[in-house]
Amino acid sequence: MLNSNRLRIAMQKSGRLSHNSKNLLVNCGVRINLQDKKLISFAENMPIDVIRVRDDDIPGLVMNKIVDLGIVGGNVLKEKILSRAFKKQKSSYKLLLDLDFGLCRLSLACPKDSFYKDLYSLKNFTIATSYPYILKEYLESKNINFKSFTLKGSVEIAPRVGLSDMICDLVSTGATLEENNLREINVIYKSNAQIISRTGKFSSIKKELIHKLITRIKGVIKARESKYIMLHAPASKINQVVSLLKGVETPTILKLAGNSKKVVMHMVSKENFFWETMENLKKLGATSILVLPIEKMME
Ligand code: ATP
Ligand code: ZN
Repeated sequence: MLNSNRLRIAMQKSGRLSHNSKNLLVNCGVRINLQDKKLISFAENMPIDVIRVRDDDIPGLVMNKIVDLGIVGGNVLKEKILSRAFKKQKSSYKLLLDLDFGLCRLSLACPKDSFYKDLYSLKNFTIATSYPYILKEYLESKNINFKSFTLKGSVEIAPRVGLSDMICDLVSTGATLEENNLREINVIYKSNAQIISRTGKFSSIKKELIHKLITRIKGVIKARESKYIMLHAPASKINQVVSLLKGVETPTILKLAGNSKKVVMHMVSKENFFWETMENLKKLGATSILVLPIEKMME
């Protein structure tokens, strides 16, 4: 049980989520020295302790109230919930926020030279996976019979060494599938990192701290998605410029010294800014176009 007034956050020690999880806290102003060998690190400027563990342990630490918050992949969380449900154990936790990293999908893939076309050609085949419960839930909902073979890692080599007919594994770019001569046939779960919280009572200090942290994280995510755009545009083309820039709220219009035909426009765009947009702005007569990253944002 928790006995401290400090907020405990569990995150992955080393792996695909660790760098982004650490960065997220740093971008939120948490000063912490996460040394590799330490299980627990203490923030210097806020009452926050970070516990770094294997990602598979994070949902359990939150559900058993050992930590207050956890940063974990939705895939790992869902697998844990389903495995606990299978053992008739409840999963208590609260999803606080979907994060903008750890994007991947759990997919079925088969050897490129196999004859499988779609899900319904999967009957009674063996599928190697690290996510047997998500796989079971998905295929049972479609009334497809199969056998699963649980592997903790190197799932992608299972068909080649004769362990299974196909695999159900995490994919992001598809490069690993390609390297192993596998073809993706079906996405069964889309995932991203999430920040979850334990249930139960929180002291008012912790409640406030969680609120502060989540507000800052939302600001960090919003800032990462947004760009600050500055340009000079013909005074007669203001509306056309705005309509080219999707996700732009009311621009600030300033006078340009010594040029009454042009104005200076400053605006925040909440969408990705592409070279094509820049080229179209030029065609409208815009000049001096600057696209700047935004570090922090609060609305
Ligand atoms: P640990 O040692 O902590 O158990 P792991 O090997 O199980 O680590 P990683 O490969 O580091 O896990 O992946 C952690 C999480 O990152 C995944 O559960 C998933 O949510 C996310 N992820 C994003 N892209 C990918 C990808 N291409 N392959 C695997 N996981 C990905
Ligand atoms: Zn893991």
